Amino acid sequence: MSRSISLLSLTLLVGLLFVHAREPFKPTSVAPHVPASWKAGLATVVITPEKFIWMAGYAGRDKPAEGKWQDLFAKALILEDEAGKKQVIVTLDLIGVPQELRRRIAARLEEKHGVPSAGLFMNASHTHSGPELRRRPQPPTEEELKNPKVRDAWEYTQGLEQKINGAIDAAFADLRPARLTWNQARAGFAMNRRRDYSLPADHPNANKAPNPAGPVDQSVPALRIESPEGEARGVLFGYACHNTCLGAYHWCGDYAGYAQEYLQQNRPGFTAMFVTGCGADQNPYPRRSGVVPGVSDLELTQQHGRSLANAVEMAMTANPIGVTGPLRQAYEEVTISYEDTKRTPHQYPVQVIQFGETLTIVTLGSEVVVDYSLRLKKELAGPAAVWVAGYSNDYSGYIPSTRIQEEGGYEAGTGWARGIEKIIVDKAVELERGLK
Ligand SMILES: [Zn+2]
Repeated sequence: MSRSISLLSLTLLVGLLFVHAREPFKPTSVAPHVPASWKAGLATVVITPEKFIWMAGYAGRDKPAEGKWQDLFAKALILEDEAGKKQVIVTLDLIGVPQELRRRIAARLEEKHGVPSAGLFMNASHTHSGPELRRRPQPPTEEELKNPKVRDAWEYTQGLEQKINGAIDAAFADLRPARLTWNQARAGFAMNRRRDYSLPADHPNANKAPNPAGPVDQSVPALRIESPEGEARGVLFGYACHNTCLGAYHWCGDYAGYAQEYLQQNRPGFTAMFVTGCGADQNPYPRRSGVVPGVSDLELTQQHGRSLANAVEMAMTANPIGVTGPLRQAYEEVTISYEDTKRTPHQYPVQVIQFGETLTIVTLGSEVVVDYSLRLKKELAGPAAVWVAGYSNDYSGYIPSTRIQEEGGYEAGTGWARGIEKIIVDKAVELERGLK
């Protein structure tokens, strides 16, 4: 008797397990109490070059690309608040955002969709395993086009513009009700790559880099987008670190590319978008083959990608904070000059995007060092959390802080006149105050 009962229960148990395993996945909201008061649209387009053209990032490259480890993507996110105000966010697995490209995309966005320039935020992952881009505003001359590097970069950048516009249009077509939550976690693989300039010249560590005691911003902010039913649709996340684990001749999104891939892996239809922070003086460590016995640079890249993806998972699920409107946005260009007064001064973009009292995103152009992020988080501290992005809307060299201009070194090398930190920070603070 008892044997047949236990046999019966075993059969039932196996049956139950079988039924359970086949049950379809039900999405669960991370914050069901948060009203789905937004609309969100998402779209992705592949931007991997069709040919093996010249790559961006390292001056020492002596040949074009010759393989592919990952596709490169342009991704568009549109957020619309209850009053119908929209913010367009475009992330790119590319070296930078050429200013002229951003200007052209902004002009079309305003004309076609009625969104002003302040409503466009473009950010590049700064992968050094992507194609070279046309950075100068004017088209190349006939003479310049004879150089295959210039010709490839020009042709690619023109095609890129069409693809990004396509992604933006597709994201508009995808606009539907959404719930937004946000929080931040931490990832530890970024280290300050400069030496410690405070040490006296005769100190044994005076010329040694990286500097484990140097300033870092290891926060991982993550804005999660889900359907009213609780299905995760996408995440916008950031990290302040050079996206340069790799120096090979293969197309790849580097650690940020793998972080995005891992986040999307088991979530069909989910879009993960990487935003580079103020990581100009930060590198990922350990870095390059041979440093860890038996681990290649590609494997290290994937490990850092996994670390970052795990931090994003943490930020998305641990105590998610509801994001409220209204959406407020401001964009201005400030003039920053070169030490060499014969060079034409640069129009440098500063942008502030505010989500009610919850979150303020500050975006700065080009390769910004970490001091800007740490300072702006202090200066703008208030009820809203502050997220500072670099590599946004422009790509024209390193943007050092006053400290780094005084110390010297690689990131001080773009030749800007002293005082650019004050000009840029003052503008960011002014724009943020103006939005309230
Ligand atoms: Zn760089």
